[in-house]
Amino acid sequence: MIEFKNVNKVYPDGTEAIKDFSLEIKEGELMTLIGPSGCGKTTTMKMINRLIDPTSGSIYINGKAITDYNIHELRWNIGYVLQQIALFPHMSIAENIAVVPEMKKWKKQEIVSRSHDLLDMVGLDPSTFGNRMPGELSGGQQQRIGVIRALAADPDIILMDEPFSALDPISREQLQNDIQQLQKEIKKTIVFVTHDMDEALKLGDRICLMKDGSMVQVDQAEQLIMNP
Ligand code: ADP
Ligand code: ADP
Repeated sequence: MIEFKNVNKVYPDGTEAIKDFSLEIKEGELMTLIGPSGCGKTTTMKMINRLIDPTSGSIYINGKAITDYNIHELRWNIGYVLQQIALFPHMSIAENIAVVPEMKKWKKQEIVSRSHDLLDMVGLDPSTFGNRMPGELSGGQQQRIGVIRALAADPDIILMDEPFSALDPISREQLQNDIQQLQKEIKKTIVFVTHDMDEALKLGDRICLMKDGSMVQVDQAEQLIMNP
């Protein structure tokens, strides 16, 4: 459902961030992208929702070139979870979750019910947490809200760029378990960037190993040939 075909990205300063990159990510699959810092993981993610465009090559979603989608429609259909917690600090948790559903003109009742379901799903009591401000939550709780906020308007695709790297090991493991549970329940297509091999192996239906802007291998965990 997401297909990269011979994609290259050269930044204006001449940096060749992505070189002849081809990859097919199936519908409902959790694909982890792993590789050392600077290998092009974030660039790859940003090209999916057109924060940046390839210098050459093409990217397709459901068989249609991403350049043929209305850009707002494209982005509304893609949830993005960043490494830095990016909740709106002046909005309550419930308001944070409601941002994209409101843009999509969901009915208030639908938004409230969706928000309750999502909070329940990550083990946060809606009546307690809905009215709190982001600053009143722990780092792990805030990141959990970041994850469910990306899911709120039911996007088909979720991009997660090292979403747990700023967390302590316990919150991290909790959130990894949440993602596995979510993946089972909602069957979304997820692209998950990490530089932690254990995390990549644990979460990925398949793992895409990257190096210097190119794909080295893509396979299921048990099939990967490790070249340390
Ligand atoms: P990460 O390794 O977590 O992807 P980086 O520290 O490499 O993050 O990059 C952070 C941001 O800075 C990215 O959004 C990237 O686009 C930008 N960036 C990285 N390298 C350069 C560079 N050489 N010139 C300009 N911007 C850069
Ligand atoms: P990763 O996410 O794997 O750390 P990035 O995609 O952030 O890698 O970066 C890939 C390469 O592109 C790196 O060499 C980085 O310095 C460079 N880069 C990233 N963003 C920019 C930018 N805006 N301008 C120039 N070079 C960049």
